[in-house]
Amino acid sequence: MSNPIIHISGPDEENKLSLWFICPACSTRDDAPEDTGMTRITVPPWDWNGNLAAPTVEGSVLTVQGKYICHSFIRQGQIEFLSDSTHTLAGTTVDLPELPTWFFGQVEKPIVGDTEAEMKANG
Ligand SMILES: [Zn+2]
Repeated sequence: MSNPIIHISGPDEENKLSLWFICPACSTRDDAPEDTGMTRITVPPWDWNGNLAAPTVEGSVLTVQGKYICHSFIRQGQIEFLSDSTHTLAGTTVDLPELPTWFFGQVEKPIVGDTEAEMKANG
C-alpha cells in the first residue's frame, strides 16, 4: 500500500478546496520542527488540474519564513524548485513524496509545521 502524494479536503465555507502535500525541501530543513513541510494551498486562487496521481497546479507556491525561501511549481506530480529558493534543492525538480500515514487522521485539525504558502502573482 502506498499513500497518495496529494490530499484534497473541503470545500470550506468559502467554497475553496484545500490541497495538501509534503514539500521535500521544507520537510528536511535542519532548523524545522518535526513534521514540517506539510503544505496546504487552496483552490482557488491556485488552479489544480484534477489529477491526484500526477497533479499540476497553476500558480507558484511561495513559502517565506525569515530568511528561508521556498518557491516552487507543482507539475505532473513533481515539484520544481525555482532558483530563488534558499535551500539545497533550488533549481532542481524532484518527485512529490507520499503523504505520511499520520497525516490522514489529522487533516481537518491544525497540523504541526503546517506551512502557510502564498501564491506569487506572475509566478
Ligand atoms: Zn518547500
